[in-house]
Amino acid sequence: MSSHFPVSRSLFDEVMCPNYAPPEIIPVRGLGSRVWDQQGREYIDFAGGIAVTALGHCHPNLVQALTEQSQKLWHVANVMTNEPALRLAKKLCDLTFADRVFFANSGAEANEAAFKLARRYAWEHYGPDKHEIIAFNNSFHGRTLFTVSVGGQQKYREGFEPVPAGIQHAEYNNLASLEKIISDKTCAVVMEPVIGEGGVIPASAEFVEGVRALCDKHNALLIFDEIQTGVGRTGSLYAYMQTQVTPDILTSAKALGGGFPVAAMLTTSAVAASLKVGTHGSTYGGNPLACAVAEAAIDLISQESVLNGVKARAEKLVAGLNAINARTGAFSDVRSSGLLLGCALKDELKGRAKDFTTAGLAEGLMILVAGPDVVRLAPSLVIADEDIAEGLARFERAVKRVLA
Ligand SMILES: *Cc1c(COP(=O)(O)O)cnc(C)c1O
Repeated sequence: MSSHFPVSRSLFDEVMCPNYAPPEIIPVRGLGSRVWDQQGREYIDFAGGIAVTALGHCHPNLVQALTEQSQKLWHVANVMTNEPALRLAKKLCDLTFADRVFFANSGAEANEAAFKLARRYAWEHYGPDKHEIIAFNNSFHGRTLFTVSVGGQQKYREGFEPVPAGIQHAEYNNLASLEKIISDKTCAVVMEPVIGEGGVIPASAEFVEGVRALCDKHNALLIFDEIQTGVGRTGSLYAYMQTQVTPDILTSAKALGGGFPVAAMLTTSAVAASLKVGTHGSTYGGNPLACAVAEAAIDLISQESVLNGVKARAEKLVAGLNAINARTGAFSDVRSSGLLLGCALKDELKGRAKDFTTAGLAEGLMILVAGPDVVRLAPSLVIADEDIAEGLARFERAVKRVLA
């Protein structure tokens, strides 16, 4: 056995790259929507590991899937296929518009695959001039060089230039701004159906339909980045299912593995055909452990009862958040796309979202930010009523702590 020695938060500053600033606590155990730290202090989890642990912590079905697979086969790499990957791919195709799946290990990698495929498809069918990718301001698509370049937040590119060329940005929910820059050189438009990290902002129906129409007019592929909105988060298996449009490529990660790293790029046979043998790959992508867990997660989350439960829980949370706002006046707006919730801070509190996560921890509650002005919640899709009630009570205390 490996030798364990006691560790504490101070070790972070000695051995970890300083690109994160974690709080003082170190979580050591989780069950359902409760988490405990090294000192045995309990937290209600309204953060879900950034919209990942959609079935809570240590869900028995996921633990069983991982345990069983861990005793059979861990890894063969992409030189062979494996049973869990094939089963998961078949289920994803049966449940969505897609006919083909490419597996990766993280959201950024799934997007990387999507952007490369879009370029390759256009190159093959229309020639090298058709290579421009259009994304939207404030959107987030990951932290690899290509994905920060496509993402709509300059701060994530700063100091990493030169970035890949052929990328443009339009204004979200503003069709005219897309119309101005889209052309026959555009190979793809990529959008989040609800902007997640950038503030929990849903696309209007008119916008989504308009983007699809402009893509069709210019033979550009429409990519939906559903890394945050997918796998039940907004109340349907994928958010596109609540719109009148179907994307050509969809990326999924975060909740797909319920906490085990796995990602997928879904697409049609016609588009997938451009990803010919040798054009793209990943050593771990489609790993049997990851796919076995994801299969168990998808089996549960695709059930009508779970998806309908998202709506019911979201309504409870929104009602609770509005009540807290009525008593504290902290928010200008409480937004919900299912269980992706955003509390936009009123003008006087703008820039202070991080203070709410700190106050949350002090009150035994894990929450998130979505930029400096929005407090974000992304709890488990199966969070228990008692945990919602207790979490809201702690949230109110946290809000009052910030206001004090
Ligand atoms: C989290 C996220 C990503 C990046 O996923 P990673 O697994 O962190 O690489 C990409 N797009 C969206 C919309 C996300 O929310």
